[in-house]
Amino acid sequence: MSEKIKKILEKKEFSKGDIITLLQANKEERQLIFAKANQVKKDFVGLKTYYRGLIEFSNICAKDCYYCGIRASNKNVQRYDISDEQILQAVKFAYENNYGSVVFQSGERADKQFIERIEQLLIKAKKITKGKIGITISLGEQSLETYRRWYNAGAHRYLLRIESSNKELYYKIHPQNKMHDFDTRLNALYDLQKAGYQTGTGVMIGLPFQTYEHLADDLLFFKAFDVDMVGMGPYIEHTETPLYEHRNLLLPLEERFNLTLKMIAILRIMMKDINIAAATALQAIDPIGREKALKVGANIIMPNITPTINRENYQLYENKPCIDEGADECTHCLEARITISGDDIGYGEWGDAPHFEKRTKIKKEA
Ligand code: SAH
Repeated sequence: MSEKIKKILEKKEFSKGDIITLLQANKEERQLIFAKANQVKKDFVGLKTYYRGLIEFSNICAKDCYYCGIRASNKNVQRYDISDEQILQAVKFAYENNYGSVVFQSGERADKQFIERIEQLLIKAKKITKGKIGITISLGEQSLETYRRWYNAGAHRYLLRIESSNKELYYKIHPQNKMHDFDTRLNALYDLQKAGYQTGTGVMIGLPFQTYEHLADDLLFFKAFDVDMVGMGPYIEHTETPLYEHRNLLLPLEERFNLTLKMIAILRIMMKDINIAAATALQAIDPIGREKALKVGANIIMPNITPTINRENYQLYENKPCIDEGADECTHCLEARITISGDDIGYGEWGDAPHFEKRTKIKKEA
């Protein structure tokens, strides 16, 4: 069997069948995939990890996704919205500690007040860091016009997970209505590219009803869409959500974890020069889960720099790590752990994906 894996790994392109075989690799075989992924990482993006200081500034959300702990219908979560001042304080922390970039993430809202607030925040974040901080935003589905406004205000990367590229599965994990429309989400991704962002997407791994075939299709979707960045992590059930009732269908956590590492490694081999995040959810399963991901192809880590008082209320899933640690503590423990895993840290750099530059250059020349 490992001969079969070796043969696949020598190929230039993977078929769907190849990907499924790789996803099913056993403990020994998967080492071959991991070694190859780490080599590709070294050759194409370098053994370097970039930081994105993550600011989860509000858990107020208009959506009702069946898997998410901060869905609108969950009445057992205390809603919060961090003040602009505190957000900018966190930006300053990231800047002063040479993180290079920050991510603004929150529940999903598309009202006028929210759009304007974000625009102002982006302008201020750039101003207080003399234009030096790189800003990724992850604020859900918005109109092309809004995406453009925020881009012009200073954001240059955007994360919007498709959650599953399979429409049928998508509707098993979301309500089927206008607010949760698969095609709208997909179109939003195209709009992000149109607006000029480095565009990132991703999926959850180990969802109920999800098959190897779905996951292989997800990887092929990333490739076909020509994404610049991917963030994907294990699905972790949350008691206060509708999907919890299907927990009997889930793989054990450890298997969801291992499957995520394989997804990351295979994606690195398929898309050599993109940015791949070591998702925080990995750390909820294994204390050094993110570092393990860095060894098999991931190159981005998102240290949580949300003021600690609010962290316990941004629990998309249970067991979320580091909710009681301050940003400072996180920085120190992280640096040691990354260095031990063999990467340098790209302090003070934006760490954009080389893929983006190539993608846009080809377009300009065409
Ligand atoms: N509102 C933004 C940000 C969403 S939170 C948006 O719509 O894009 C970021 C990600 O957390 C989601 O895209 C989802 O993939 C992930 N997530 C939510 N609930 C989860 C769970 N129970 N387990 C694992 N990941 C989860």
